[in-house]
Amino acid sequence: MKPIRLVITSYQVGFGDCFLLSFEYPGEKRHVLIDFGSTGLPDGVPKNQLDLIADNIAERTRNERLAVVATHRHKDHISGFITKKHRPSSGKTIADLKPELVLQPWTENPKLAVDAKGPLPPGVPIAARYISSLAAMQAAAGAIFSEVKRVRYLSPTIRQELSFMGENNLANLEAVENLMAMSGNREYAKAGDKTALSALLPGVKIDILGPPSIEQSNKITKQRPRDQDEFWHLVANAANSLGPTKGQKVIPLFPDFAVERVGSNLPIDTRWIVGRARRLRADQMLRLVRILDTALNNTSLILLFRCGSKNLLFPGDAQIENWSYALSQSSVREKLKKVDLYKVGHHGSLNVTPKSLWSLFEQKSEQDASDRLKTLMSTMSHKHGDEARRTEVPRGTLVQELNRRSSLFTTQSLRENELFHETTLDF
Ligand SMILES: [Zn+2]
Repeated sequence: MKPIRLVITSYQVGFGDCFLLSFEYPGEKRHVLIDFGSTGLPDGVPKNQLDLIADNIAERTRNERLAVVATHRHKDHISGFITKKHRPSSGKTIADLKPELVLQPWTENPKLAVDAKGPLPPGVPIAARYISSLAAMQAAAGAIFSEVKRVRYLSPTIRQELSFMGENNLANLEAVENLMAMSGNREYAKAGDKTALSALLPGVKIDILGPPSIEQSNKITKQRPRDQDEFWHLVANAANSLGPTKGQKVIPLFPDFAVERVGSNLPIDTRWIVGRARRLRADQMLRLVRILDTALNNTSLILLFRCGSKNLLFPGDAQIENWSYALSQSSVREKLKKVDLYKVGHHGSLNVTPKSLWSLFEQKSEQDASDRLKTLMSTMSHKHGDEARRTEVPRGTLVQELNRRSSLFTTQSLRENELFHETTLDF
């Protein structure tokens, strides 16, 4: 059995991702939902947008076979799976569809969960240490998020960026729990693993290209020591250095740096230090949330679907540290050259479409031919980063390049009353 057509539905989730892949076989359809989350909707879009999207997914997939992929645990990829008590909710609608498989990165495996309340004893496996540092990072995000709400000295741009990233990195426990409960068949995959998605989609080859396990990623670090791009381990160590957490409460990140308590009671000729300290503090918080953001992005599943002559790449929000493992293998690079459709990583942000990846795609073309590379981008401007620092998402120069050398669809082109856009590929 082989699919004859694929319809990809890109939903309007504002800043987030939600793609439904519907493979049409003779007489039936089989579906894969890749991510369902949002950290902010455009003006004019209904407040219950996520519920409307869940209803639409249900309409399209009810009584048909469905698998769910959650590429990583950022809010903008999983908040749609949240279940609210006492009323219909998007997460319950999806759970009621009884997906036959939930696929997540290995970093989500609950068996690796360790008690992150204190320093880990020696002998705890490195994978578990990594997971525990991610948990500590999310707790730290919570602390930063609440500090940002409390203090008054931050500039509006810094405040916005800090609260956006702080919120996006919170733990999303409800959604995580729902993902664990909605299917009897759960997979936690790393690069190179086989997946039961293949059984759901006969005639489609599925490669899991990322995230690498710590061991796989270590191999690369050894092969290319001192490569600036390779700081996966640094990131994990940075998280460990945040120190142990007490329950949900995080100990102050910078206990010796109590800027808020310094103020007008200082002698007049020393007050200049207050402004400086505050700027430093804002800077530190910003750097920290960026590390947290990158670390979680790098747990993203990278999926390559190959069917007939068509190759589709869905990399979640994987950044270069995750991509490095896949890109270091010549067999993978060969496959990537043939990509026909690329889901733009991390909503079009800077550096998340590595140049070494983009340069591989052979279907790039300035001409609008039928085999021209297609790109799909789910994003919303003015939510993340800022233009003055050239960190705005989506990044202007990348969007320009996508427009010039591929057929780009961005959810930003949807009107207020449009819930989705469909891309059709015939095999
Ligand atoms: Zn994202």
